[in-house]
Amino acid sequence: MTRIIHAVIDTAALAHNLRRMREISQARIMAVVKANAYGHGLVQAANALKEADALAVARLDEGLQLRAAGIRQPIILLEGVFTGRELQTAAECNFELVVHAAEQLRLLELDANKHAFSLWLKVDTGMNRLGFRAETFADVWQRVGALRQKAKTLRVMTHLARADEPSEPMTAAQLALFARLTRGLKAETSIGNSAGTLLWPEGRGDWVRPGLALYGVSPVAGRLGADFGLRPVMTLEASVIAVRRVLQGETVGYGGAWRAERDSDIAIVAAGYGDGLTRQLPSGTPLRIEQQTARLAGRVSMDMIAADITGLTNIRVGSRAQLWGPMLPVEQIAAQAGTIPYELLCGVSQRVPLEIQV
Ligand SMILES: *Cc1c(COP(=O)(O)O)cnc(C)c1O
Repeated sequence: MTRIIHAVIDTAALAHNLRRMREISQARIMAVVKANAYGHGLVQAANALKEADALAVARLDEGLQLRAAGIRQPIILLEGVFTGRELQTAAECNFELVVHAAEQLRLLELDANKHAFSLWLKVDTGMNRLGFRAETFADVWQRVGALRQKAKTLRVMTHLARADEPSEPMTAAQLALFARLTRGLKAETSIGNSAGTLLWPEGRGDWVRPGLALYGVSPVAGRLGADFGLRPVMTLEASVIAVRRVLQGETVGYGGAWRAERDSDIAIVAAGYGDGLTRQLPSGTPLRIEQQTARLAGRVSMDMIAADITGLTNIRVGSRAQLWGPMLPVEQIAAQAGTIPYELLCGVSQRVPLEIQV
C-alpha cells in the first residue's frame, strides 16, 4: 500500500552493511539498535541483523522489547542498570551489562553473585560522560573480578569522543590510554563506534559497536556512506497532495518566508516537522520528485512542506517525493539543516509507518 508518508526500510541493505562492517573491522560486531534502531524500527532492524554477534541498546525497556519479540542474541545494556529491581530483570532476560559507575558496582556487590552476568567494564579515556576514570581502573578491575562468576565474561570498553575527525589528536590519546590500561589483561575489548571503526584501524578492539554505519550512513562530515561501501537503509517518502501556481512577488507558507521571484509552480508534500523533518531546513533544500530535483520553498510546517517545481515535468497530486534515501543522502539533508544524520533518522516520528522491505 502506498501511504501518504512512509519510511521504506531496506533490510537487505542493513544485512549488507553488517557484512561490510565485519569486513572492515575483522572484529566481532555489537550492532547498536538503540533509539528504535535510529528510527528504523527496533525489532525489524534486529531481525535483519541476525548475523550480529550481539545487539546493543541504551535502556532496559529497549532490551525488553527485543526479548518480547523473541530475539535471542546477546543484548548489551549500554547504560547498565540503576536499581536492584532492574538488575533482577536484567538477569531474567539474560542481558549483558555495562558497568560504568561506582553505584552500579555496588549494586552488583549487593547482589552477591546471586546472578551471573556478562559484564562490560567501561573506562573513561576522555569522553567524560560515562565510565570509570583511568586512575581508578586498576582498583575497579579488582573489585569486578572479585564478584565475577566463573561462567560469565568480563570485558573492557571505552568510547571515543572525536573519532569522526580524521586528524584529531584526541583519538590517538584516548587509544594510547586505553591500550596502557588494558595491556596484559586477559579480557576482550571494545572501542570503536562507527567512526572509530571506519577511520581508526587501531580504534576497534575485539568488538566494534557500529550504529549509524549499519544504517548505511557516514558519521564523518563531508563523506557519504557509499564512500565506505555502505548502502542507505531508509528512504523517507511522502505524497504530493496539491500542486499550485503562485505569481511573481507572492509568498508561500508561514511567515511569508519564501517569495516567488517569477511565476512559479509549487508542489505541497505531506511531510512536516510532525513527521520528523526539522524546521531548520532552509529554502533550497533538495528533494526528489519524479526523478527530478525540486527545492524546498519556505518554512517546514507540521504536516506539509512546499517545493518549488518550476520547470519540472510530470509532477501532480499523487506523485511521490523522496525526502532522503539512496538518491538523496540523509548526510546532505542533515548538513543543510545544520545537524547530523543521527538526529534526522532518530527523529522520524511515530506517525510515520515503516514499510519493511525484505
Ligand atoms: C550509540 C553508541 C554507539 C554507536 O555509535 P555510532 O556513532 O552510531 O556508531 C557505540 N557505542 C556507544 C557506547 C554508544 O552509546
